[in-house]
Amino acid sequence: MSRASLKVGMLGGTFDPVHLGHLRSAVEVREALGLDWLHMIPAPQPPLRDTPQVSPEQRLALLKKGIADTPGIIADGRELRREGPSYSVDTLAELRTEYGEAVPLVMIIGFDAFLRLTQWRRVDDIFSLAHLVVIARPGYQAPWPSALKELVGNRVVDKVSTLMQRPCGALLSLSLPSMMAISATYIRERLRAGESVRYLLPEAVEQSILQQGFYQTHE
Ligand code: ATP
Repeated sequence: MSRASLKVGMLGGTFDPVHLGHLRSAVEVREALGLDWLHMIPAPQPPLRDTPQVSPEQRLALLKKGIADTPGIIADGRELRREGPSYSVDTLAELRTEYGEAVPLVMIIGFDAFLRLTQWRRVDDIFSLAHLVVIARPGYQAPWPSALKELVGNRVVDKVSTLMQRPCGALLSLSLPSMMAISATYIRERLRAGESVRYLLPEAVEQSILQQGFYQTHE
């Protein structure tokens, strides 16, 4: 396939740990948008939350196990190789340089993350680098705050085909078929309480967490 016809997505997160809510969303959003590649990118130092207990390298290793051989989905450790806090705008700039100006590049975020978008660094620049696709997440429904409405302005489109006519600058909201009410917080809480997390995350990820004792003790 020629580079010009590629479509690329990025799904960033803390992935502390990766779970089936992330992975099934990744597969479904890749299908819905017709993406050739979806980069799942763990943040070593998420700017808007406390430092995770499990190291960035360990979270990346769990992500790799979780993705395994899933076609088109890449466990991308690029933010671990950068100094300082991880800003999505810098990551998008890197991807834009690698894939070139013409390729539609899409940043995918859950609705909970979207509600905090105005706090992100250089948020205006995000739309000059990428499109934004916001995916619905069970348990999160709210009217858009006015600052968010102002930020998004007239960028909203309602079809994937409209989004893909340009390389960046539009926003599409999507409800994917399998909405999963799974969060990493819930998984960490269950592990801390010695409760089962079976079927909330891939078996290989569960095994690895249990073997290494992650999330199972207070620090
Ligand atoms: P935590 O509970 O620790 O805050 P999380 O489960 O929300 O973690 P993150 O790593 O913070 O996971 O999420 C990364 C991205 O994936 C965010 O954009 C988030 O909205 C999205 N996401 C996480 N879980 C789901 C889910 N179950 N369905 C859809 N999107 C999700």
